Amino acid sequence: MSFVPDDLDGSSWESIEPYMNDLRDRKLSCSNCLETFITDRSSLSEVISEARARLYIDMTCHTDNEEIQKAWMQFVENVQPKLSEYSDILNRRLVEHESVDELPERFDILVKGLKTDIEIFREENIPLSTQSTKLVTEYNEICGAQMVEFDGEQKTFAQMAIYFENTNRSVREAAWKAVSERRFEDNERISEIYDELIQIRHKIATNAGFEGFQEYMFASMHRFDYTIEDCLEFHESIESVCQPLRHRADRERMRDLGLGSLRPWDMGVDVKGRPPLQPFNDVQDMVDGCSRIFHNMSAELGNYFDQLDANDCLDLDSRKGKAPGGYQYYLQKSRLPFIFMNAAGTQRNIETMIHEAGHAFHSFYSGHLDLIHERDSPIEFAEVASMAMELLTHPQWEEFYDSKDADRARRKHLEDIISFMPWMATIDAFQHWVYANPDHSREERAEKWLELGERFGPKVDMAGFEDIHKVSWQRQGHLFGVPFYYVEYGIAQLGALQMWKYHRRNTEDALARYKAGLSLGYTRGLTELFQASGLELSFSESYVRDLIGEIDEALAELPA
Ligand SMILES: [Zn+2]
Repeated sequence: MSFVPDDLDGSSWESIEPYMNDLRDRKLSCSNCLETFITDRSSLSEVISEARARLYIDMTCHTDNEEIQKAWMQFVENVQPKLSEYSDILNRRLVEHESVDELPERFDILVKGLKTDIEIFREENIPLSTQSTKLVTEYNEICGAQMVEFDGEQKTFAQMAIYFENTNRSVREAAWKAVSERRFEDNERISEIYDELIQIRHKIATNAGFEGFQEYMFASMHRFDYTIEDCLEFHESIESVCQPLRHRADRERMRDLGLGSLRPWDMGVDVKGRPPLQPFNDVQDMVDGCSRIFHNMSAELGNYFDQLDANDCLDLDSRKGKAPGGYQYYLQKSRLPFIFMNAAGTQRNIETMIHEAGHAFHSFYSGHLDLIHERDSPIEFAEVASMAMELLTHPQWEEFYDSKDADRARRKHLEDIISFMPWMATIDAFQHWVYANPDHSREERAEKWLELGERFGPKVDMAGFEDIHKVSWQRQGHLFGVPFYYVEYGIAQLGALQMWKYHRRNTEDALARYKAGLSLGYTRGLTELFQASGLELSFSESYVRDLIGEIDEALAELPA
């Protein structure tokens, strides 16, 4: 008998409450009680998690539907605070139980995480976190409503992406200006939102006994395997390894385009003046192409991918009223991954689709694990699953292109990794500074942002757009919705590059390593998960140089 009925409504507190109360009040005196308690709690959490997922998915698919937005806010305002409250009570029941240390080893990760959660939990932080969720929702609404009149039509920013690759410089310039100026119209309110978020977050941290939000978040995100200092070392390594390569690429770009200086609208265009790659016209072509790619790699990956479409777990096209970005959300009860994105026919869309498919494979590979927390994974490793898959599919990109265009797409993807790492460092370093100095003024924030741009940015002439440049951090949604969640992409990229290195030497061996790590879910810590796939976790300059060197080598093998 399952603890919760199959049709329990996980979006309503009234339905959930009796089960929560049962967990809160039941006697835990027998030897197996603690394990049953964990299992029952897991099956209740599955239902709630899936209800939340479906509301969230709905909310991002229909930002202009009031009823759906209300349903989401109902959950945020009425259910989530209760869940936090009970979650703390239940965590305490487990962690403070006299037999907690006698639990089998498989619960070690869970208990370690819960102990941390309890240490940092404060009742008075619940309304603060509700407040910050509301501000983040407002930020998302503002961004979701941003459209421009271009080419005689109302267009979303996702739809505008294609113009940044246009070979006609004045079209690119007009597109860049249209998007940047539209974004800038909202900059005042977005700055206010960020100011408020910083104050709220700093308060949350100090309430919990931390010096600042950095330290709080390292605990809250269960970053047990690396420190703030490691991140700073990582930034340094990236600066010394990646910046010379990307500045070389910038100089080549300038020469190839025959320009005296690069402007912000010159960064996306093909330097040879070729029109943008057009891998597909409609979304179904993209899905079919990806299906062939994964079937070519292995029957297992192909079959997993096909399950998504078959189970209605894809919302991929770009349309008005859809939130920006892309994500994979695991439906814990159905054990199915859902993929959301805004496809408009670009190569970048293919990469996003493959990226999210990588997350979906992770969900499938860990779907056999019993408990909800075991089917989770540290983000740094979750992103290895997705970023590695982007690289591992390289030999298959002929499914969308002839070999010449496939080479072109591969070259671009590899070059993008080299320029992404410094961008990641920019965002991470920015957040470290922002929360280490929570009382900074907007002017100081702008100064810091520009300074980081000098350190990690491309050589671009921003003359005439200083005001826009100063607040260009506002487009990075992570800063708002998921603070400090960004260095993960850099750490994971290192893991992904190692996986790719294996794959370049032996494809089967690499897929076996991929599966070995992913199948463990969150039953091991980050370092061990890396090890299970034969990957090293390091931030040293020599290590970063070795992996970025592999990219440089691969680029040399590709036609220019
Ligand atoms: Zn991802």
